[in-house]
Amino acid sequence: MLNIDVQLCGLVILSVLAYFLFRSETTGLHSRAMYKVALIDNLICVVLDILSIFAIVYDNILPRLVTVISCKLYLVSLVSVCLCSLLYSCTDIPRVYQDRRIKTAATILAVAVVLAIAVLPVYWYHSGLEVYSFGPAVSCAFIAAPLYIAAMIVVTVLFGQQINPRRRIAIWAWLVVEIVAISLQFLNRELLLVSFSTAVGMMIIFIEIENPEAEKDPITDAFAYHILREFVRQYFEDGVPFSGIIICTGENWNVDRQQEREILVSMTEYLKSFKGAKVFRGMSNDFAIVFELGKVMEHYEEIEARFKQPWMGIYNIPTSLFVVPDSRVAGDSDDVTAFYTRYRERIAAGDSITVIVDEMEGRKMRAYKEVSLEVLNAMAEDRLEVFYQPIYSTKLKRFVSAEALARIRNTDGSIMLPETFIPLAEENGYIDEIGARVFEKVCMMMSETSMKELGLEYIEVNLSVGQCENRELSDKFIRIMEENKTDPGNINLEITESYAITQRKVLIENMNRLKEKGCSFSLDDFGNGESNLNYIVDMPVDIVKFDRGMVNDYFNNERAKLIMDSVILMIQKMNLRIVAEGVEEKEQLDTLERIGVDYIQGYYFSKPLPQSEFIDFVRRHAQ
Ligand code: C2E
Ligand code: CA
Ligand code: CA
Repeated sequence: MLNIDVQLCGLVILSVLAYFLFRSETTGLHSRAMYKVALIDNLICVVLDILSIFAIVYDNILPRLVTVISCKLYLVSLVSVCLCSLLYSCTDIPRVYQDRRIKTAATILAVAVVLAIAVLPVYWYHSGLEVYSFGPAVSCAFIAAPLYIAAMIVVTVLFGQQINPRRRIAIWAWLVVEIVAISLQFLNRELLLVSFSTAVGMMIIFIEIENPEAEKDPITDAFAYHILREFVRQYFEDGVPFSGIIICTGENWNVDRQQEREILVSMTEYLKSFKGAKVFRGMSNDFAIVFELGKVMEHYEEIEARFKQPWMGIYNIPTSLFVVPDSRVAGDSDDVTAFYTRYRERIAAGDSITVIVDEMEGRKMRAYKEVSLEVLNAMAEDRLEVFYQPIYSTKLKRFVSAEALARIRNTDGSIMLPETFIPLAEENGYIDEIGARVFEKVCMMMSETSMKELGLEYIEVNLSVGQCENRELSDKFIRIMEENKTDPGNINLEITESYAITQRKVLIENMNRLKEKGCSFSLDDFGNGESNLNYIVDMPVDIVKFDRGMVNDYFNNERAKLIMDSVILMIQKMNLRIVAEGVEEKEQLDTLERIGVDYIQGYYFSKPLPQSEFIDFVRRHAQ
């Protein structure tokens, strides 16, 4: 009678696993590739186990050589299974996995053991259900196997933190099952458990982490987002360059859930039709497609054109593409995801843009990431400061106000200028928080100093488009003023005309609420190209600030001078006051004063100053 029932069970388990594993397409992660090798190895090992038992039991009718060879082949496959298991447990640890010396040592040991098994004699024994082989060849295999298992234990303990936690747990479960099985078989020679326990171990790993279906996004059958991260990380760690596209669709598709699913599925099918494309579903309704290096340039225009067409014949989905011709422009996998934040607002607003991420874009992206991080740290560590640039009244011949200008104090004490962080904060949404902090600091400054005594009437605070379009702006600012007992009459808010304003209604509502409380408004950067007179008519502003460029043009360009003269007349007729910005010279000041400009701001009087210096400055000039 053959004692192979348990092995047959193992064989069934492994065959089922192999079926599910090889049926699905895979990303090509090292761990998955190694798992496939290990599974095939295990299958061969179980088959050889069964064959060797067969050959031992029927040694009376089979030639002796057949039994010797089957026993030895089984021993060889056992060693190779142990080697594969060790390599599999290292796949998450780049330092170990990429270290050729470790791989070579493990393989040399395996080859030496195989050679020893080949030349050394093997004997066998069977009686009833008890079947086993012994002798020097067997001893070799049974010395090597525990060595590999010990190495696995060492690796998973030493580098445990680097191994995917689910994989780590699965490997440990596998080890426990294996060790228990070996011990039981040792105690009871009739229980041939080892092959079966290995199959169970492979099943645990499959269920826990290597099931290819778990890599898939259930709706679209594209690879899931978490796999993208792992995949890209592996490419970067291996130094394998690739190309790819990130496809971002606006957040609001205006379709119901069922339609959304159908569109996502047809997008995925379309993207998968490109040869060699690995399609990942990104966050929300975005996709990432990874190609071989350079390949993306052959396809992106076609993809761009397709996404401009309606889906399922009727649904137009605004889509932005980020084309990465060579992954080396990014420093690491996180750089790639920085896109999501960088262009978030524009994409959410439904813009369809195509960005080719070349060397320069890559550099900008990295700088963007660094500055974003720096801004976050500065906010957390309260390193956002407010400088004040004095504003001079030509009528009263003294300083009556100042513009509050944000600065970030770097950790080394140097200053980061707003041109570095404000545009970025506008893009990624930090501006709300920065703006509120600046406003709060201005209110605190006013509660600490006596504005009246200094002759100051109000402080001008900049507002970005993003802040103005936030419905909560007025409530938030009113609360901050109340908390600091600020007189709203001491606050003047600067707004800028911009094509970027899409929520004009919200802006006006915010302005009206704050005006009701007593705040006044300035129109900033007038004359820099984007502003026009209509805007002054439409907006409830009190002051118009002439941009530095326009002020300069007045002195250098005859036509500009004529236009400005008449604009000044009109503004004065509307009972609005004028600030000229960027005044650097005495002659400029004199002329501007003569033509009726109410306020002067510029380096001629002072650069923006830290709070205490500003107060000293005003105090000195007030006397
Ligand atoms: P802005 O509102 O037009 O501010 C005036 C800018 O011109 C300031 O630059 C100021 O230092 C500079 N300036 C003033 N006088 C002269 C001059 O005589 N010559 C020259 N060459 N420049 C002069 P700064 O402080 O670097 O600010 C740049 C921009 O950053 C500001 O332009 C404003 O748009 C933005 N910003 C600054 N602080 C804030 C803030 O708290 N919130 C928001 N939303 N934006 C801010
Ligand atoms: Ca301003
Ligand atoms: Ca300005």
